[in-house]
Amino acid sequence: MVVDNKATISYINLIKEDLAVFHITPKNQVPDFKPGQFLTLGVFVPDEGKIDRSAYSIASPPQQRKYFELIIRWIKRPILGKRTTQIFDKKEGDDIFWVKPAGTFTINEKMPSGAPDVRRMVLIGGDTGLAPFISYSLYLKAIGSKREIVVLHGAENMDELIYRDLLTKLEDESLDKGKDTWNFRYRASIGRPQEWINRSWSGHKGKVETFLKPESNRDISPLEDLVGETITPENTSFYLCGWQDTINGVLDFVIPKGFVTDRNKRKDGTFDIKIESYG
Ligand SMILES: Cc1cc2nc3c(=O)[nH]c(=O)nc-3n(C[C@H](O)[C@H](O)[C@H](O)COP(=O)(O)OP(=O)(O)OC[C@H]3O[C@@H](n4cnc5c(N)ncnc54)[C@H](O)[C@@H]3O)c2cc1C
Repeated sequence: MVVDNKATISYINLIKEDLAVFHITPKNQVPDFKPGQFLTLGVFVPDEGKIDRSAYSIASPPQQRKYFELIIRWIKRPILGKRTTQIFDKKEGDDIFWVKPAGTFTINEKMPSGAPDVRRMVLIGGDTGLAPFISYSLYLKAIGSKREIVVLHGAENMDELIYRDLLTKLEDESLDKGKDTWNFRYRASIGRPQEWINRSWSGHKGKVETFLKPESNRDISPLEDLVGETITPENTSFYLCGWQDTINGVLDFVIPKGFVTDRNKRKDGTFDIKIESYG
């Protein structure tokens, strides 16, 4: 049976009209959860006499026990989102319901053989699909992981590059201390470089999956350029999160290279891609 627990919305950071960071503080402590899991939020709808629920990836790491951090996009088109409109109507201090964290979009620590999975982790998030990778990154940093982590974030505009400061700091620390201590890279892509608001953007342009597209004048993709070698299932694992279009865009590049998803494992149980689709 689903248990709806009570929490307070303790903080709302409105990044823009339809994008915000929320802190959900349970009446009791944040329970144990794994990086990559989602929280189900519930809002009581008086007209329907019931609680309406929707899932949100947890951006905070499990070591942070005061509140859950979530990044939520208010759906305005093609029609007003049913759940997100209610959530964006809330104020700091208001109550909200939550169901305990769930989901299997977690870090693959071991291969089926029992050996540790030491492959590079390429974490690709479209829009709010970045959320679980903030939890991954902060968790891996806290446990002193030596795995190579590459975070690729796709947003339409520069003001939607949530966590840019945090991720840049994590990369700077990696450059300062050396890859043997903390091996972290972060790159973002802007989907609407022609817009006025993005005129100062000098980074990657286009959909986030184009980080995997070989450049016309070279044989290697921007991702391979960044990591300094050809991407193969032996050296790299992918974690993809966001709306299905972004996920399909990445799969179009990596499936022909021999990568397989956890939904389509090899006979020996190995796979190279984990997916969290928002719809
Ligand atoms: C495991 C999981 C984790 C999720 N994590 C997050 C998260 O961290 N942050 C977050 O913002 N959302 C996340 N979502 C999506 C979230 O659960 C809701 O589906 C979303 O917020 C829309 O809710 P709504 O009721 O307001 O919109 P709805 O009433 O469901 O949708 C209104 C209309 O908009 C369309 N629509 C909805 N969303 C989009 C979109 N993004 N782009 C284009 N069309 C859309 C629908 O098809 C529908 O026509 C996650 C979903 C899943 C399954």
